[in-house]
Amino acid sequence: MEHSLPVAPALDLPAEDWLTEAWRWRELDARRCREALDAARAAHLAAFTGPGSAAPGFDSPGVVSAALQVVWGYLCFREARLAEALECAEEAFGLLAAHPQSFWYSRALNVKSCAQLELGELELATLTLREQLRVSRANGDTETEGATLHDLGVMHTQRDPAHAEGYLTAAWEVFEATGHSVGRSYVSWSLGELRERQERLDEATALYRRALTLSRACGHLFLEVLVLSRLGELELQHGDPLAGEQWLREALTRQSADPSRPLWITVPPLVRLLIHTGRLHEARTVLEAQLDGTLAAGMVPPQVEIHALLSEVLEALGEPRVALEHLREHVRLFREQNAQEQARKVRGLEVLHRTELAQQEAWALRQRNEELRAALGELERLHRQLEQISVTDELTGVKNRHYLMTRGVRLLEDQWRVAQTQPQPESAHVAVAILDIDHFKAVNDTYGHDGGDRVLRSFAQFLQSGLREHDELSRFGGEEFVILFPGTPLSEAYGLLNGLRLGLQGFSFEGLPPTFRVSFTAGIVNCPNADLMDALRRADQLLYRGKRSGRDAVTREKLDGWAALRSPRS
Ligand code: GH3
Ligand code: MG
Ligand code: MG
Repeated sequence: MEHSLPVAPALDLPAEDWLTEAWRWRELDARRCREALDAARAAHLAAFTGPGSAAPGFDSPGVVSAALQVVWGYLCFREARLAEALECAEEAFGLLAAHPQSFWYSRALNVKSCAQLELGELELATLTLREQLRVSRANGDTETEGATLHDLGVMHTQRDPAHAEGYLTAAWEVFEATGHSVGRSYVSWSLGELRERQERLDEATALYRRALTLSRACGHLFLEVLVLSRLGELELQHGDPLAGEQWLREALTRQSADPSRPLWITVPPLVRLLIHTGRLHEARTVLEAQLDGTLAAGMVPPQVEIHALLSEVLEALGEPRVALEHLREHVRLFREQNAQEQARKVRGLEVLHRTELAQQEAWALRQRNEELRAALGELERLHRQLEQISVTDELTGVKNRHYLMTRGVRLLEDQWRVAQTQPQPESAHVAVAILDIDHFKAVNDTYGHDGGDRVLRSFAQFLQSGLREHDELSRFGGEEFVILFPGTPLSEAYGLLNGLRLGLQGFSFEGLPPTFRVSFTAGIVNCPNADLMDALRRADQLLYRGKRSGRDAVTREKLDGWAALRSPRS
């Protein structure tokens, strides 16, 4: 984990390798992180302008651009430029819209949550952290998963120690499984703070010691100094002042290891200890050395506190004039720092709420669209239902007259059009039959209107089950039904219908005596020209011929085929 790429022979590395390298150093060494980022930028640029634009690793330029934003965003966060950090994260989200499975997506979320935590926006940070946990688990980014669990643990340490414990333990397991020393040292440190809160000081000390070993192993100087100082303060408060002083002095020695970035956490407790034990000259020496260091490094924040402590020490040493100078400097720097910090925070919050607002608007829009889509779906469903109802006969469940006159006619027209293209137009014949139940009035008279209804329903079902799938049965009105036989020669349709007539003789009707029988009379014609009304008229004439000659009969036109259809009606 802590190894580095060889710098010299690696100049031709693809941008993605440099970005991975930069991300790896973001915690331990900002300078190395920045160098790797510069190399990544150069490689990215070369890949898109130079001859090697087809080099592997550059097949997703969006991801590389996003990763550049993410690393830069993290560096901004480290330097307390929170607005920029948030802007970088947003930029990365935009670029990664098509790659939400990318590692850089979870890392962008990481940058965002860090900045939100720093701005004290705990609720927003919690939302981001939850998303970060989900995404990092989904894309197998274990390092971000561990960092997320750790941050959630730290957030809960004050309010909800039980949950904090769970998160931190989970984070430890993730980092242990992947052998991630930086992660393990952070978790040990945070678990130590949790134990301190729970007043289990021995356990806290043990955990801090583990954090110390781990931070040394991975060369994390910042954390090492932090832990040494904390161990020193713990001893000062609860145990042995001598041991405490030793820890603090060690911290002071270690912090001077990086003069470019003097860490001042150690100074206040050590100086307090020196003041407390009357070693004022020593305190002054330490403070003046620290002041020089921070001035040389151009680090203002520690100077604020050093001036205050110096003023206190010098006053006690009987040098009120110099003490006053330091106090004035302290006040001036404090004001300046405070104003700058406030301005930075305001800018950060502005960016945060701007992006948050935009996200909320996008979310609301999505929500509205979904509602609209659902409403449209419901409307379509109702429309289909209504359409179904409007073409269905309520009593029998078969198609109604409206259907016959609209879609039935359309079917005839289609059939007609097909017939025009056929070498043998007979293949596209439609036979049209009209049926009327015989002596139906008597059924009503004997079994009542309900009995009549029951007969109509069973009759329709009987017909429907005897017809082929593409035949169209509809109730024309009262006890009259119409059947369209698409693509069927008249003789064939006649045979089918006559078969039904004969079959009805043995059909028993539900809810009526077993001996009850009913028959129908029908006329059947060929319809060659989509003129349904004409076909119905001809069929009706044949029907009445059947009625006159004794009922229970199917009558057909004499001629089968095209010729009969063109000949004038009989
Ligand atoms: P025919 O053999 O000459 O057709 O004699 P018919 O009695 O069947 O003919 P008619 O036209 O005289 O009688 C049809 C009867 O059908 C009259 C009417 O009350 C009845 N009817 C029409 N619609 C319905 C209905 O929806 N339910 C019931 N139960 N009867 C209906
Ligand atoms: Mg009738
Ligand atoms: Mg009748």
